[in-house]
Amino acid sequence: MKLTNFIDGKWQEAGEERYTAVLNPANGEQLAKVRMSTKEEVDLAVAAAVKAQKKWALVPAPKRADYLYEIGRLMKEKKEHLAQVLTKEMGKVIEEGRGEVQEGIDMAFYMAGEGRRLFGETTPSELADKFAMSVRAPIGVVGLITPWNFPVAIATWKSFPAIVAGNAFIWKPATETPMMAYEMAKIFEEVGLPPGVANVVFGSGSEVGTAMIEHPDVKVISFTGSTETGSKVAELGGRHLKKVSLEMGGKNAVIVMDDADLQLAVEGILWSAFGTAGQRCTACSRVIVHKDVKSELESMLLAQMENLTIGDGLDETVKIGPVINKQALEKIHSYTKIGQEEGAKLLAGGHVLADGDLANGNYYAPTLFTDVSSNMRIAQEEIFGPVVSLIEVSSLEEAIEVNNGVKFGLSSSIFSRDINNVFRAQRDLDTGIVYVNAGTTGAEIHLPFGGTKGTGNGHRDSGVAALDVYTEWKSIYVDFSGKLQRAQIDTE
Ligand code: NAD
Repeated sequence: MKLTNFIDGKWQEAGEERYTAVLNPANGEQLAKVRMSTKEEVDLAVAAAVKAQKKWALVPAPKRADYLYEIGRLMKEKKEHLAQVLTKEMGKVIEEGRGEVQEGIDMAFYMAGEGRRLFGETTPSELADKFAMSVRAPIGVVGLITPWNFPVAIATWKSFPAIVAGNAFIWKPATETPMMAYEMAKIFEEVGLPPGVANVVFGSGSEVGTAMIEHPDVKVISFTGSTETGSKVAELGGRHLKKVSLEMGGKNAVIVMDDADLQLAVEGILWSAFGTAGQRCTACSRVIVHKDVKSELESMLLAQMENLTIGDGLDETVKIGPVINKQALEKIHSYTKIGQEEGAKLLAGGHVLADGDLANGNYYAPTLFTDVSSNMRIAQEEIFGPVVSLIEVSSLEEAIEVNNGVKFGLSSSIFSRDINNVFRAQRDLDTGIVYVNAGTTGAEIHLPFGGTKGTGNGHRDSGVAALDVYTEWKSIYVDFSGKLQRAQIDTE
């Protein structure tokens, strides 16, 4: 199977034959070959988008929204198929694959509702016989760059608000997970979106991503990925005066206080640390635990980690799938060595799994470090694998300080039954998302998603806040007095 670009409503490519293999991380099997596009193809897509967007912006928003309702309906109809494709190319277990597709469906219906809202403001004027209002205006052509860990949900958080607001888009998915983008392009075609409104261009970040950012007709770049790549995107985007929205890495923590329901905390930690094999941007990679419950929590975690079955995510009994590729395995394992060299105590895992059926895939044992201090690299850097570090603290204040003492600010959580602890924590935790008595994952699409500090640059995906990325505010004054009225001067 060859995955070809979707440009101007057609499956097309231009230039030399260049493809790369898409591998199933569970067993190394080749699933497809994907086009590695050139700047020429980006130019084609942008030209098509520019042309289409002019007409699209004039389609009434509720009519634009009708396409989203149809996209949501089709995604629902194909949910199981999409989840299977997602699990095969990305590796997350099938239950989570279904959950991710559901997130996309929810986003379609939610953003379709925006077609009849897209609220602006009406406000009194300081002058008589004058009307004042502000409306959201589309920006034009937007470029979407997405990571492999949520190959469909993140794209829906970006593309659906973009199109309901009257923009056209070019989407460059991660090279590791193009199949979901291909499936979505088929859905865009099936619902009959006008050619050029939705374009998918496959290829590398350095070639396709750069060409999108540098193209003068791409007005917005919405990027999700690592902080390292995001800063390059911001730098290049800045030079070209682009509006750049960045959602980047995390180093998320669960705080467990001495009055917590420990069994609930263990369940929350296991789900948010080892789900998606620790490759969620919101994955829990630090547990900040009160000294009075540390040893009990350690024993409970160790006991329950035994039940985490590891294998191909298509097997319904499996709880943890593979990591994305061999480089990821090496990176994760290098952090195990770093942790040991730094003096942290390895309680479980810390090695590659390659026995029997696991031999051809990329599997890492769920790993637990304890006696970690907050300045160690394993407590500071994003590992992006099934590795958790336990850090002991003596008070809520210290827990909050440790939580906030990293360069990222995506998600945090506190387990406590003391209402005062909970309210102090939700106020003082410096992250874009805070959970109380739940792990660090579980965002819902109608709330803003994003983080502070090194995780983002002030924009948000999903929720109504996403519309701010894809719209400009336009203020409109209508004077019906029939005479010149000067603001700030003729007010008496
Ligand atoms: P990545 O930064 O390697 O790649 C992300 C995307 O950027 C890919 O499509 C890639 O091809 C592209 N890219 C690479 N170099 C580029 C360049 N020079 N110019 C333009 N585009 C370029 O990230 P990844 O490994 O795919 O994803 C994992 C990272 O994403 C983790 O750090 C994770 O925390 C982060 N993430 C963040 C969020 C969030 O909402 N904050 C959500 C999911 C993932």
